[in-house]
Amino acid sequence: MIDGCGREIDHLRLSLTERCNMACRYCAPSGQQRAGRQIDAGFAFELVRWLTQCHGIRHVRLTGGEPLLYRGLAPLIGRLAELGTLHELTLTTNGQALAGQAADLCAAGLKRINISLDTLVPERFTRLTRGGDLARTLAGIEAAIRHGLTPVKINVVAQRGLNDGELADMAQWGLSRGCVVRFLEAMPIGPLAGEVDKYLVPASEVLERLAERFVLHPIPQSIGQPATDYVATGQGLRGVIGVIAPTTRPFCASCRRIRITHRGRLVPCLHDERGVDLARWWDGRTLDTRGADGTLSAALQTKPALGPQNQSVTMLSLGG
Ligand code: SAM
Repeated sequence: MIDGCGREIDHLRLSLTERCNMACRYCAPSGQQRAGRQIDAGFAFELVRWLTQCHGIRHVRLTGGEPLLYRGLAPLIGRLAELGTLHELTLTTNGQALAGQAADLCAAGLKRINISLDTLVPERFTRLTRGGDLARTLAGIEAAIRHGLTPVKINVVAQRGLNDGELADMAQWGLSRGCVVRFLEAMPIGPLAGEVDKYLVPASEVLERLAERFVLHPIPQSIGQPATDYVATGQGLRGVIGVIAPTTRPFCASCRRIRITHRGRLVPCLHDERGVDLARWWDGRTLDTRGADGTLSAALQTKPALGPQNQSVTMLSLGG
């Protein structure tokens, strides 16, 4: 699948639900919990089948909202894993409900998992997430490791004045458990639209802080990979840590991704909330793939060369 700028698209982020059991300050606009709307499992499956069999999507990441709140998650993963057309089927979670689900997800065919974790300080975790429980996410990480959803990738959003003093501690903690630890820049999206400068810790600064504790050797990047990874050694540890710099070094030119929201909207660019409706081609039992083909090809032409900054629709709605 080639978009209007000649970029090959083979990654899909599929948001299963807008609901979340946390409300991170940079992600959710207020403390209120969202309604429980979720995508129909048959629709989700048919979308992935169509995109993988007809349009070359090879990497699918299930997200949300919080995908572990999706009713019927393990059966859906089982069906997707059986398709046999995917190189990679992964899931991004806050880990709050993972300890009880890791075994089922693994048995269903999930191979790997990304877990968002911004601090190792319990009160700070609860404050940043507006009510989350650090112990639950840590238990989820241990369960993921135990069940072989490895390498577990930990995503840390570096935030000025909030967790920027503990970035090296987090790297050390993750490496000691064999996790890949990636530090993301805050993005001017959702509640941070127009406000990101207050929180942004540039990836260059993250690397400086990590280099105080670890020796970092760059790993050559594969095409379209947004993260810059390093082999980190130090403190008797060796492993992979990385940075993702969407704000100071946007990687739009090599973006290979589209998104589909829990409402069945295809969103070609995270920074451009306009999307097109694919749900109109789903009648509750079958996907009209000819109609969907037309919608997809028109949408691909609108994927911007450079994503506009400061759009206020949240990652919860778009699928982070
Ligand atoms: N609930 C799941 C989780 O926590 O991983 C999946 C959805 S969440 C929206 C996906 C990712 O988006 C999380 O890693 C979160 O930190 C990130 N995110 C949300 N808003 C962001 C922002 N304004 N800047 C940077 N990252 C953001």
